[in-house]
Amino acid sequence: MSATSVHSNGAGDAAANLENVIVIGSGPAGFTAGLYAARANLNPLLITGNDYGGQVSITYDIENYPGFPESLSGPELVEKMKAQAEKFGTRVEFDYVNEIVVDLHPFVVRTANGAEYRAKSLILCTGARPRYLEIPGEKEYTGKGISYCATCDGFFFRGKDVLVIGGGDSAAEEALFLTRYASRVRILHRRDKFRASKILQDRVFANDKIEVLWNTIPTAIEGEGGKVTAVRTQDTVTGAEGRLETDGVFIFVGHIPNNDLYPGKFDLDEDGHLITDRKLRTNVPGVFAAGEIQDKVFKQVATSVGQGCAAAMSATRFLEDLEAGHRVDLAEDAREFAMARVAA
Ligand SMILES: Cc1cc2nc3c(=O)[nH]c(=O)nc-3n(C[C@H](O)[C@H](O)[C@H](O)COP(=O)(O)OP(=O)(O)OC[C@H]3O[C@@H](n4cnc5c(N)ncnc54)[C@H](O)[C@@H]3O)c2cc1C
Repeated sequence: MSATSVHSNGAGDAAANLENVIVIGSGPAGFTAGLYAARANLNPLLITGNDYGGQVSITYDIENYPGFPESLSGPELVEKMKAQAEKFGTRVEFDYVNEIVVDLHPFVVRTANGAEYRAKSLILCTGARPRYLEIPGEKEYTGKGISYCATCDGFFFRGKDVLVIGGGDSAAEEALFLTRYASRVRILHRRDKFRASKILQDRVFANDKIEVLWNTIPTAIEGEGGKVTAVRTQDTVTGAEGRLETDGVFIFVGHIPNNDLYPGKFDLDEDGHLITDRKLRTNVPGVFAAGEIQDKVFKQVATSVGQGCAAAMSATRFLEDLEAGHRVDLAEDAREFAMARVAA
């Protein structure tokens, strides 16, 4: 076999070795896009990437996804989403996409396992990842007192003491959110002033429950009995070391979109997220995006699922139009996208 093998979509357009739609990513957005594309009879192919299940798979307990009042673990939710997508015909391939070629149509997708696919449409669901501190104890206590999402986990810290690490808008917003539950919120920031917007800073300083520890970085997270108990610190000016006892640590030092495939081909915002319109179209006609790769605002399972659904519905319409010969001029679609952006 040559290094590159060309795959067909089995039941679909086998003669041309052509996929109707390839979904890239196996988080909530990806599996939902797969589900909806499968139910539209598109026989989609979903390529999982190296983080099967996405961020959900590292989530201990999910209590805010509708339909599961008794809550469930992240990996359980991933398996349910996969099973439902497969039930209607999504083909799940455990592989990683190395390259997509979008300056010709059908598009070309090349993977780490040496496969090469051609596709009439793509749904990009490559998500994002929290930036980690990479200090001792962080991996060990993630989900056991360490969180990267106050909306998701704040509820578990009712009446408790928590530390927030960071100094940007996310850290300020999440610290304010945590004051709904926690008895005390201490923000550790490496500098002597915040990067957060003035209005958020004002709210932080006005909140009695919040205390700011300037020029302070965490150096290790400690725990006992499988739970966080303290954070070791260092003063960035004097070098003095300290130790803060706490029940929880919320880390907001950045969120990184998984966008290695896109620069140079797609419109990205200043933080590297794909720019989409309300129909979840990217600037490349026939390529749609859903979930955290294009959403830096909501960042939830429920919102990613909704966007995955919408992107698959848009892809379905695109393919219907393509079949009907309505969309022979792909450049026209790109112009429409650009004009919608200008109008927005
Ligand atoms: C610790 C933690 C706890 C959380 N808890 C909650 C919670 O309780 N409730 C809630 O609503 N939300 C929670 N969230 C947020 C939620 O997990 C995310 O909003 C959601 O997973 C985003 O879904 P997504 O499909 O956009 O992307 P992701 O989940 O980020 O998945 C991205 C997918 O893309 C794949 N991928 C990336 N690059 C490639 C490539 N080149 N080729 C192929 N595949 C690729 C990855 O393998 C992965 O499968 C939590 C997040 C974290 C980190």
